[in-house]
Amino acid sequence: MAERILVVGGNAAGMTAASRAKRLDPALRITVLESSRFISYSICGLPYALTGEVKSHQDLVAFTPQSLKEERGLQARIRVKVQEILPGRRVILCRDLESDEEFELGYDRLVLATGYVPRLPRIVGTELEGLFTVSRLEHGIAMRERLSQSQARRAAIVGGGYIGLMMAQALRTLGLEVMLMERNRHLYSQVDEEMALEIEQELSRQGVELLLGTAVHSLRGRNGRLEAVEAAGKLHAVDLALLDVGVAPNTELARGCGIPCGMSTAVQVDDRGQTPVSGIYAAGNCAETRHLVSGRPIFSALGTTAAKQGRVVGENLSGRRSTFAGSLETSVEKVFGLSVARTGLTLRQALQSGFEADAVTVKARDRASYYPASQSMKVRLVFEKRGGRLLGGQILGGDLAAKRIDTLVTALTAKMSLQDLSQLDLAYAPPYATLWDPIQIAANVGLRKVRRW
Ligand SMILES: Cc1cc2nc3c(=O)[nH]c(=O)nc-3n(C[C@H](O)[C@H](O)[C@H](O)COP(=O)(O)OP(=O)(O)OC[C@H]3O[C@@H](n4cnc5c(N)ncnc54)[C@H](O)[C@@H]3O)c2cc1C
Repeated sequence: MAERILVVGGNAAGMTAASRAKRLDPALRITVLESSRFISYSICGLPYALTGEVKSHQDLVAFTPQSLKEERGLQARIRVKVQEILPGRRVILCRDLESDEEFELGYDRLVLATGYVPRLPRIVGTELEGLFTVSRLEHGIAMRERLSQSQARRAAIVGGGYIGLMMAQALRTLGLEVMLMERNRHLYSQVDEEMALEIEQELSRQGVELLLGTAVHSLRGRNGRLEAVEAAGKLHAVDLALLDVGVAPNTELARGCGIPCGMSTAVQVDDRGQTPVSGIYAAGNCAETRHLVSGRPIFSALGTTAAKQGRVVGENLSGRRSTFAGSLETSVEKVFGLSVARTGLTLRQALQSGFEADAVTVKARDRASYYPASQSMKVRLVFEKRGGRLLGGQILGGDLAAKRIDTLVTALTAKMSLQDLSQLDLAYAPPYATLWDPIQIAANVGLRKVRRW
């Protein structure tokens, strides 16, 4: 009898694991269980569906349960919440969210791909209607409905992280007055302060009101509807608010059946994605991984890592031996006209991780200065003072700046030094780069600070 595999969570990690396992071993009987109405959806495209740049949220959905069965031979059940795992009996307890019916399913092997959950601040008012977090497509649809029904004019973004920045852009593009409140002195702690400053300037240029160093104390409403955000001793009237004060791995199911969580608070797995409980794997944002530079356990809140972890688990389910090395927490996003890209460690993270680190920042042109559309870009490299090993990088600029981060990803993965970076045979032609690429200009400047003994 073919093995029964159950996958909890039908998005980046879960769908990749299921598809990869089925492709490698078509005999496997795989069922994906998903509590939302959608499987295989791109939440990453949500800001663009909100603004209308992508026509409909339906365009963000790659498969329905029907098409998944026809095209990939996988079963999927939506609106089914897995409530408990009984590892001793190899059974899970589920609830059909439409009929409220409870039922059991048996498995030979189980994959947890439950993602992350947005954190809520410990303040009053988080239950008010008009307050949003975004981690599921449904959240985006609800937000869009709210925007079209209420003719909302003013929005607050609470927290200036990765999601807060992209949602500020989306809401501003829709013509709303947007204020962004951030408890720290600067936005987006995934880049060093001098890079964050440029992001702040771009947001201000685009009319986003920034309240930095400002903690939100409460959310106020009437008749259950949000009306104002209390911050800096003032009530700011708003029609809706979006919370982005951090995320946590969704480990409820795992913890409920005794699967341990690691130092990062995510589900503990080995490099094959196997948890310490026999027959149970975990992948994606609910699962722990390792930072490729610091070596520390982390959980990555990125789709790129989730898909790769899912693929590794899928291969292991099929009988291959596959391992996942870890993540550099590489990301890129568009904040109005500015591409914001980062990888590896910031200087602050490098120092906290015990490296004797330094950093340089340079401004250079992204293509020959005489070529039309040549733009300024800013490159920051973080490196070890002794020997100059690259530890991280950040890039800000126009479209050509965005994917240049991948050069730094490759260099970090290969444990290159600034000297190696300076010698790379990078491509040059005036429409695409300068004779010395901005990354290499930064490496050359950094080399002046490197001790070679
Ligand atoms: C607005 C936005 C933009 C983003 N943009 C990018 C980007 O550009 N690049 C990037 O790399 N990352 C991006 N991300 C992050 C990326 O979307 C996530 O890292 C990725 O979706 C994680 O995949 P996952 O499969 O681990 O978890 P998820 O995508 O969160 O999927 C987990 C699934 O499990 C289901 N589930 C949870 N518990 C249960 C249960 N008990 N029973 C049944 N089902 C359950 C959930 O409903 C969910 O569908 C973005 C995130 C957001 C919110």
